[in-house]
Amino acid sequence: MEYTDLYIDGAWQPGSDGQRFDVINPADETVIASVASATVDDAKAAINAAEKAFGEWAARTPRERSIVLRKAFDLMTERLHDFAKLITLENGKATADAMGEATYAAEFFRWFSEEAVRADGLIAHAPASGARIIVQQKPAGIAVLITPWNYPAAMGTRKIAPALAAGCPVIIKPASETPLTMLALMPLLEEAGVPKGMVNVLPSRQTGAIVDTMLHDPRVRVVSFTGSTEVGRQLLHSAADQVLKPAMELGGNAPLLVLEDANIDVAVEGTMLAKMRNLGEACTAANRIYVHKNVADEFTTKLTQAMGNLKVGNGLDPDVNVGPLVNASTRDKVSEFVADAISKGAKLHVGGKVPCGKGYFYPPTVLSNVPKTANCVHDEIFGPVAAIQTFDNLDAVIESANDTEYGLVAYVFTENMKLGMSVCERLDYGMVGLNRGLVSDPAAPFGGTKQSGLGREGGHEGMLEFTETQYISASW
Ligand code: NAP
Repeated sequence: MEYTDLYIDGAWQPGSDGQRFDVINPADETVIASVASATVDDAKAAINAAEKAFGEWAARTPRERSIVLRKAFDLMTERLHDFAKLITLENGKATADAMGEATYAAEFFRWFSEEAVRADGLIAHAPASGARIIVQQKPAGIAVLITPWNYPAAMGTRKIAPALAAGCPVIIKPASETPLTMLALMPLLEEAGVPKGMVNVLPSRQTGAIVDTMLHDPRVRVVSFTGSTEVGRQLLHSAADQVLKPAMELGGNAPLLVLEDANIDVAVEGTMLAKMRNLGEACTAANRIYVHKNVADEFTTKLTQAMGNLKVGNGLDPDVNVGPLVNASTRDKVSEFVADAISKGAKLHVGGKVPCGKGYFYPPTVLSNVPKTANCVHDEIFGPVAAIQTFDNLDAVIESANDTEYGLVAYVFTENMKLGMSVCERLDYGMVGLNRGLVSDPAAPFGGTKQSGLGREGGHEGMLEFTETQYISASW
């Protein structure tokens, strides 16, 4: 591997104490790289670099920033295969999923190159005084970005691109399982024209200490986190000390509703996407599948067939649909969810058995009659397991769908658009897929309600997470 050191101030550095950690290929459990582990001193150096870079970049015109971001999109688009291969190597996901992620990741550079030049403000007459109300957006300051392992490229670019568009320098802490993709992005950003110090990358095994140091440095103004609700809560507590601007993309427990009149083929296709994209390791993955009792048999049969047809194996093999899960503990947790549901009365249709041999594989699995008491109804499965429940009362199923502390995304399948829209509006979720199993789109505001997070990424809103509103009251 070419890029395994810390990236601070546009230079590759081994880390102040020389410590390194291994990155494992989840398909065969071999070590693919030894990566430098950032210390508190490295974190301070990254903040110094970001501070130095900030003024010049923020003073550039929006168009100049936009041109650099557009170049980053062009360069990444030329190298999608290289990024996809790296994503598969460190995360395990199948090549098609990795290509999908790399494409999605690159799109954030294009979208925010277009948004950079649309930092709208407002000018108005104050109704009583007649003064002018001038409202404008300014770059918020240095942003600390913390990302998970399930999308090693996209969860980074979804934050880096709007931050740069807004004028903010960033320090990114990638997940320890998958730091290589973010490091490999740095030479590309250099080539695109991002000045040194604007984007710094700190893989680390001292995660808590370095993040805490950064969140308590008065020069840092934004913390943008994607990961578990548990860690998000801790970060919100830390962010409170300096009243940082928080953006939190946290866990999900997505319900997927198949109504009685749904087109079952469309519903199965949508469920396959909502469940199996990224082999279920997604905050948007359909976690609770509610099917009307009159169509449950047909739906379950067709879904079982589709899941059974997927080929499991090393994600680098282009014929493979389902790679390994990211690590042994994720695989074991999935296996425990299935055993728990079966012990409480669920019926197994396909999968459900950990294969022998190397790699953290788990087969596509379908369970029906999953009881409300099963653990997988309350927690994120984060694996390739479709857990089906049946319903016959729409009001009751909407109540069940909303009965969770999460509110990221829900899915609804019906041929009746009037009914579909009213169900969407009754679902307490930040995003809803109506007859679609995929909602993620760089041009749309991604994010959740309740304990799924705060703020939105992508869309017009994504850049606002990195700006402060300034109001000037003027007379002339
Ligand atoms: P995680 O354990 O919360 O880790 C996410 C990131 O936080 C990693 O970089 C991790 O670093 C870091 N971290 C861990 N402990 C920390 C601490 N005490 N202080 C500061 N940073 C800390 O989550 P994960 O297991 O990687 O990811 C899965 C979770 O992410 C799921 O819950 C999923 O739903 C959620 N997710 C949400 C979205 C969304 O947009 N809503 C998208 C993708 C994933 P280390 O790797 O070094 O521990």
